Amino acid sequence: MSIEQQIINLREELRTHNYNYYVLDNATISDYDFDLKLKDLAKLEAENPQFFDANSPTQRVGGEITKNFNTVVHKNRMYSLANSYSKEDLLDWEKRIQKIIGSEDITYTCELKYDGASINLTYENGMLKNAVTRGDGFEGDEVTANIRTIKSIPLVLNDEFIPNFEIRGEIILPFEGFNKMNEERIDIGEEPYRNPRNTASGSLKLQDSSEVAKRPLDCLLYQVIANDNPKKTHFETLETVRNLGFKVPQTIEICSSIDEIFQFIEKWNTRRFDLPYETDGIVVKVNSLHFQDELGYTAKSPRWAIAYKFKAEQESTVLNEITYQVGRTGAITPVANLEPVQLAGTTVKRASLHNADQIEKLDIRVGDTVFVEKGGEIIPKVVGVDLSKRPINSEPTIYATHCPDCNTELIRTEGDAKHYCPNEYGCPTQITSRIQHFISRKAMNIDGLGAETVELLFKEGLIQNYADLYELKIEQIIPLERMAEKSAKNMIEGIKKSIDIPFEKVLFALGIRFVGETVAKKLAKYFKSIDSLMNASQEELIKVDEIGDRIAESVVEFSQNLLNIQLVDRLKSYGVQLEISEEVLENQSNILEGKAFVVSGVFTIFNRNDLKKSIEDNGGKVVSSISKKTSFVIAGENMGPSKLQKAESLGIPIITEEKYLELINGDSH
Ligand code: AMP
Ligand code: ZN
Repeated sequence: MSIEQQIINLREELRTHNYNYYVLDNATISDYDFDLKLKDLAKLEAENPQFFDANSPTQRVGGEITKNFNTVVHKNRMYSLANSYSKEDLLDWEKRIQKIIGSEDITYTCELKYDGASINLTYENGMLKNAVTRGDGFEGDEVTANIRTIKSIPLVLNDEFIPNFEIRGEIILPFEGFNKMNEERIDIGEEPYRNPRNTASGSLKLQDSSEVAKRPLDCLLYQVIANDNPKKTHFETLETVRNLGFKVPQTIEICSSIDEIFQFIEKWNTRRFDLPYETDGIVVKVNSLHFQDELGYTAKSPRWAIAYKFKAEQESTVLNEITYQVGRTGAITPVANLEPVQLAGTTVKRASLHNADQIEKLDIRVGDTVFVEKGGEIIPKVVGVDLSKRPINSEPTIYATHCPDCNTELIRTEGDAKHYCPNEYGCPTQITSRIQHFISRKAMNIDGLGAETVELLFKEGLIQNYADLYELKIEQIIPLERMAEKSAKNMIEGIKKSIDIPFEKVLFALGIRFVGETVAKKLAKYFKSIDSLMNASQEELIKVDEIGDRIAESVVEFSQNLLNIQLVDRLKSYGVQLEISEEVLENQSNILEGKAFVVSGVFTIFNRNDLKKSIEDNGGKVVSSISKKTSFVIAGENMGPSKLQKAESLGIPIITEEKYLELINGDSH
């Protein structure tokens, strides 16, 4: 077979697996085998650059940097949708269109209104040509490089359709991925993203497409624009393009009356909370494409479609007070303290006000009656003010100028939405949050010591920083409130035990800004000891895979601070692990990087925990249940039959512990 043919075959095979996984949600290959084939393809492509193709599966990882996005005029304007809020609105709309068409016999397609950022994709001869954001509806930004990284968007179509068409959809960020991104942000002391929609639309404008590739974005399609569409209805068209490889949700339905439309609305009004992504209403469209043409457009929106907005879970209540919260990194968040109100099944007393700009923009004042809403996020937010109820003596809010905690003057750097308390090492909340982070489960995992006790110890003057924990004496603790001899003893023991926690976790525990769990692991592996890490220059740091300027700067800043140098020296003197142990060093490799393992059954060579540790030491990940993302199942004796079945049905390789040893010793590939 010629090289070109090999490349073509591999691309086709990977494309099909990709489609099965990301669009049909049905894996047909293990991650491990997929990666192997992808590597083969990348190698062939690198060796034979004459066969380059921007739509090859290898291009999905991104890497293209766009400094300025090109502005592109839409061939077909991207309109808004008219809104409706009641059955009456819908009946009015129906009457209007029946009159224009001169018939009462109209069927509709009902779809959910996906809440994300709209995108227009152009396909030519079965391949993605470009992707443009909605912009102002007349022209938008060309973001093709970023869009290519979204795995559910086909770069090459499954089947033949018409040679040229445009297709529109919504780029969304499903809750699961959004929450995971936020967990990581919180771990490194960053502000969590506010909501999936803004994060999705922000992602489209990232300059580095490999950053976009890391985000779990998805794309749901809802409209095809083509001059020579052979289909007669909107519904059939969507079904057709679904078969071409596009993700057209199965939730779409045909309705033949406003009553049926209303049943659809009522069904999804509650069921939408079970969907993995956010929706904010439904969209009703005239099904016949011929009728659509006849109805045409108003200045703003198609006459043949109308949106029905779900009622947001919103209530109004009185704002009693605005307080300010200090985060671990000093970021200030204003909080609305509310007259308690029932909202979406819970009592709400506090809501986020985000930042100074938001308060100013909405002109929120103490004493106001405000509207509180619950979106996809956990914390409710204040979305507006009922000005008709504003007390006559009300005064505009003056934002805090000083830290509520340590009274240091707040700073706000250009381009930053947040105010900060710069008193990093003197501000009580920042100090205690840092110690609380140090003892937390993913860090030093200190048993017998909780967040509240940290506050108490700090208040009593017993600790000022995390190194002080190791100097605590049982006699100092027993007299404290709610402490008994037993709990004091447990605490001291827990602290003492933490000196065995491996270096990578200690590094995470230190709370260096932007150094989360994963980054700490990478740095620990690369530098092997705190000394060589703290002596590393910016240039040396960015040599490490995935360490960018921002992290490097933060590490350097931490390392040059005398207070930190002293703290680290003290930790060292107490015996805390500040380098990778010899033993670990000997048994470590990167050989399993990117692979996920499920361990099941009883083993003979390893005990279970050692096996898990070995996987991690060699760069792999241990997960508890089998999914499409699992690379291998290591099976001992008595592996559960349901696990076996699941692994088999997903095509995941099942290996013995002997085989595993071969894998890490490099005996097989
Ligand atoms: P609006 O921005 O409120 O005028 O609503 C129009 C936007 O709704 C479009 O630009 C799309 O991005 C979005 N949308 C989400 N789901 C759908 C859908 N099923 N059909 C049409 N538009 C949709
Ligand atoms: Zn402060």
